[in-house]
Amino acid sequence: HADVAMYEAKDLGRNRTCFYSKARQVIVDTRSAMALDMQTGLDNGEFCLYLHPQVLKIGMLCGAEALLRWLPRDKPPVSPDSFIPVADSTGLILPLGEWVLKQACTIVMDLEKYQLPEDFALAVNISALQFADENFIKTVKRVFHETGVTPLRLKFELTETSLVQDMNRAGNIMKELGSMGLQVELDDFGTGYSSLNSIKNLPLTALKIDASLIRGIEKDESSRAIVRAALAMARAMSLQTIAEGVETQSQMDYLAKEGCDMIQGYLFAKPMPYEEFISYLGRKLKIA
Ligand code: C2E
Ligand code: MG
Ligand code: MG
Ligand code: MG
Repeated sequence: HADVAMYEAKDLGRNRTCFYSKARQVIVDTRSAMALDMQTGLDNGEFCLYLHPQVLKIGMLCGAEALLRWLPRDKPPVSPDSFIPVADSTGLILPLGEWVLKQACTIVMDLEKYQLPEDFALAVNISALQFADENFIKTVKRVFHETGVTPLRLKFELTETSLVQDMNRAGNIMKELGSMGLQVELDDFGTGYSSLNSIKNLPLTALKIDASLIRGIEKDESSRAIVRAALAMARAMSLQTIAEGVETQSQMDYLAKEGCDMIQGYLFAKPMPYEEFISYLGRKLKIA
């Protein structure tokens, strides 16, 4: 890509060549500087997982999503939307993703001390690069072994990018995860190009409908139509459904009416540190 950019820039004159390559270099430098900061941050314990509750449409707690947070000592928190892409493009996502998985397993092991709902599962986001890593399954198995976790208590959230690159390999890996007892969900459904045809043969357990479609429920009929179609499609494929980004009661009512199984969103809670989640769990279980 850099070569192509240089080539195009040269056509525009000498000075621009210099300008464009410098601008590009600045981007590269900024990314690698951030990646270095992240590496140091990881060693210094600046990363942690927040938990975001997931509830059944009747209101009972059924799970949580583990969301990575970077809280640098001397700077304001950095959003995953800015640091995850950097981790992805520098390869840092491999050690970082392994750290996330290990942390999530440790959390699950600790949660077993409390009275968890029987079907409670913790969702872990897996990036495309992690999934594509040839050691992915080996790493997962090793972390499970090291932490002693029950895979039944975990679900992996994969995005379409992970699945379409090599459908055969994706199918095999998902089968292997399934045979360990893990659930595998397709995250951000409705933002990509997933079609019934491309995912019908994959051993998924759930579809997670993206927040952008949920936001449209109150606004436009086309979003509602897509949500209904996604739910119908999931039903036809015997997949569970979960909606993310649910903020209002009317979105919740609509999803419940249309048969969405699980709900995640600010309507119930914001993502919270582990200690807070424990108290949340206590309150939730008392009500149930
Ligand atoms: P995602 O996997 O789609 O996660 C859902 C995002 O939506 C989270 O943002 C969550 O806080 C937010 N969200 C959920 N419900 C609501 C709501 O009702 N209102 C609003 N405004 N937001 C809601 P977050 O934590 O900023 O994470 C952003 C993205 O970063 C995630 O999107 C995921 O793609 C990525 N990410 C986060 N943690 C990890 C991780 O451990 N590994 C990898 N590979 N990616 C991660
Ligand atoms: Mg997710
Ligand atoms: Mg999502
Ligand atoms: Mg999303």
